Amino acid sequence: MSVKCPYCSSTNISHPQTGTSVASCIGALGGAASAIYTAVNSVSKQSPYVFTAATITNLILAGLAGGLSGSVFGSKLGQELDNKLFPELQCSNCQRRFSSVIALT
Ligand SMILES: [Zn+2]
Repeated sequence: MSVKCPYCSSTNISHPQTGTSVASCIGALGGAASAIYTAVNSVSKQSPYVFTAATITNLILAGLAGGLSGSVFGSKLGQELDNKLFPELQCSNCQRRFSSVIALT
């Protein structure tokens, strides 16, 4: 399949990959939030009234670990979105951006 720019009909098209960083950021936030939520839930079941420094450290570590895994997941998801669902393309001739859906119609 050949992709053409809908504005100037140039075939000199590139993939800027802008969706990856946004999805990665959302994934990191979601991963951190879910990890902290899980950690808080498990801590409150064990000792509902004792909130020690070790507990807080565990929460921070869980948040970081969750953020990291969420970021990896989000990055993969972003690449999937970029490559398959909503690949945003940029024309190297007129520098305009457009969806590949528009370019193929
Ligand atoms: Zn163009």
